[in-house]
Amino acid sequence: MINLLELDAVGLEALLAGLGEKPFRARQVSHWIHQRFAGDVAAMTDLSKALRERLAGAAEIRGPVVISDATAEDGTRKWLLDVGAGNAIEAVFIPEDDRGTLCISSQAGCALDCAFCSTGKQGFNRNLTTAEIVGQLWHANRALLADGVSAPRRPKRELRPLGGCAGRPTAPWIEQGRPPITNVVMMGMGEPLANYESVRAALSVFLDDNAYGLSRRRVTLSTSGIVPAIDRLRDDCPVALAVSLHAPDDALRDRLVPINRKYPIATLLDACVRYLERAPRNFVTFEYVMLDGVNDSPDQARALAARVRDVPCKVNLIPWNPFPGAGFRTSPRARILAFQQTLADTGLVATIRKTRGDNIDAACGQLVGRVRDRTKRTLRIHAARTAPATH
Ligand code: SAH
Ligand code: SF4
Repeated sequence: MINLLELDAVGLEALLAGLGEKPFRARQVSHWIHQRFAGDVAAMTDLSKALRERLAGAAEIRGPVVISDATAEDGTRKWLLDVGAGNAIEAVFIPEDDRGTLCISSQAGCALDCAFCSTGKQGFNRNLTTAEIVGQLWHANRALLADGVSAPRRPKRELRPLGGCAGRPTAPWIEQGRPPITNVVMMGMGEPLANYESVRAALSVFLDDNAYGLSRRRVTLSTSGIVPAIDRLRDDCPVALAVSLHAPDDALRDRLVPINRKYPIATLLDACVRYLERAPRNFVTFEYVMLDGVNDSPDQARALAARVRDVPCKVNLIPWNPFPGAGFRTSPRARILAFQQTLADTGLVATIRKTRGDNIDAACGQLVGRVRDRTKRTLRIHAARTAPATH
């Protein structure tokens, strides 16, 4: 059975063509799945009964299996999703006044082993499929809408009507409210550019006007710096780009972000400049996790500013989120502020990331910190509950 969440527009057209149907049928099916969040082919009532039956014989909508669903005091909501073999990933919804952001995972685990990252410390399990990536957005919108949460009431001026260009009639999901997720960041578990094909297909569904219709500026991909894949993304599907820099020099970055040994800072910055030729925003965001006594001195701030001087950019300083056994400490607030000020003095725009969802471990880098344990515990509990009685 094909999972319809696996298919982008081209895939859906091919599937419908195989059933002898015209391309517009694929668009209809896409509306049902990604705009009305149908969970079943039978719900697609503007397709003939005969087509629904044929389609249901070949395909289904298989959403993620939710292990847990928690909402923090600040409204941040986190779903822990089962990806089989005792592994889980997380999707995190971050509501703000003018937007609703979903932080999406791209892999179960990660092979790149950055020194300060709990996902990296767990090792690599597997790439997520397109259906598992798209399924996070599908599920989050669907679950939030079911709870009466729609898009923010006070969108910024740049927010165009979802699903189309200005002036188009509002899409048919209006009866359920506007999908609450207006922005996607690929900043969850895993390195998205190490799962290129599935991520590219998922991005095309996020951007497709017949699916989620998000503008390129509202979809951000974060990478630790896989240079050839940055070039591919630029050609295939340029969305907003965030690059995890974390150090002003190669010696330190080699230690913190081991992929740097393959693609050092100069090579990475060149790729950023090339990316900007096609990017929807005219700057790259450099992420810089603040590690006490490691990368947070005023000299390092000045070195960072000098290093990125030729790349139009903003710097996002991320207070490091601790996890057991990591061997780092978060920089004190005063040091983060001083680092920001030093960057600002050189003319760089630097922001400090607000930590969200603290009380449910949804903060950046903690996404899966305790998932494996918790998953095992959850599965054990489940097994205990469902185990047949033994004599
Ligand atoms: N693999 C991609 C995207 C996922 S990580 C990447 O590395 O960019 C998203 C961001 O969270 C990255 O900037 C990453 O360096 C950062 N991060 C990882 N662990 C963290 C932690 N414990 N505290 C704060 N940020 C962390
Ligand atoms: Fe992987 Fe990103 Fe974590 Fe590095 S920071 S180990 S690339 S998820």
